[in-house]
Amino acid sequence: MFRLDEKTALVTGASRGIGEAVARKLAAQGARTILASRSVEKLEDLAEEILSAGGEAFALALDLSEPASVPDALSTLPEGWQDVDVLVNNAGITADNLLARLPLEDWDRVLTTNLTGAFAVTKEVIRGMMRRRWGRIISISSVVGLMGNPGQANYAASKAGLVGFSKSLAKELGSRNITVNVVAPGYIETAMTEGLPEDTQKALKSSIPLRRLGVPDDVAFSVLFLASEEGGYITGHTLNVSGGLYI
Ligand code: NDP
Repeated sequence: MFRLDEKTALVTGASRGIGEAVARKLAAQGARTILASRSVEKLEDLAEEILSAGGEAFALALDLSEPASVPDALSTLPEGWQDVDVLVNNAGITADNLLARLPLEDWDRVLTTNLTGAFAVTKEVIRGMMRRRWGRIISISSVVGLMGNPGQANYAASKAGLVGFSKSLAKELGSRNITVNVVAPGYIETAMTEGLPEDTQKALKSSIPLRRLGVPDDVAFSVLFLASEEGGYITGHTLNVSGGLYI
């Protein structure tokens, strides 16, 4: 079940956190997995690990803060790795501030990396998916994009943008057997959340019905399901993986 043999997957932001967990999971299920982010050395180490566990992985330097560079970066993929069947738009950043103090530069940086970056990669891979009449596009949004959060107007706008983007694409690409979905995590234990002060973490946990932060694998299993053949009748959906933080 949930095997991805013969499929090629591309995971952005695979160097750590949720993206790393997703990449490991897809590779363990048989996908040839392209690991993409700016930290190529980390990606190469992860590729080595995947290889020694019997999987297939390739490290690709990709900087989504420069969306215009995406076509050139993807064109460096070696022969046999260019037909992406499963795309996971996971890379994302925050630059939090109350709106009154939010510089235009931080608005632009977050929107560009999180939303325009996903647009740029998706646009490059859909041609092949359409030709092959099979594809899975999964974007990692956030419950913050659904419920809002003070101090995160830029981040929430980028994450809500991924939902509208994905619903539109689901309608555009459904007839080609390409599904387009969103996973919206709540608070997950990664570098992005480790800076939260202890009392904030405590308060957070008590507001989550399941009373714990999530772990990267909680998200990775959801992505795997949506990427699989078995998840093939689900499109245009946003799967909330938040322990009930957002209901
Ligand atoms: P991390 O900060 O741990 O990892 C972010 C990843 O994105 C890294 O691999 C980083 O790689 C990559 N990245 C950042 N900027 C760029 C860029 N310009 N170009 C290419 N890659 C980039 O984050 P998480 O694992 O926590 O988050 C992953 C996704 O999940 C994000 O989209 C985040 O918004 C979302 N999310 C996370 C939640 C959480 O609680 N952790 C909750 C809800 C959503 P590198 O630095 O090597 O480029």
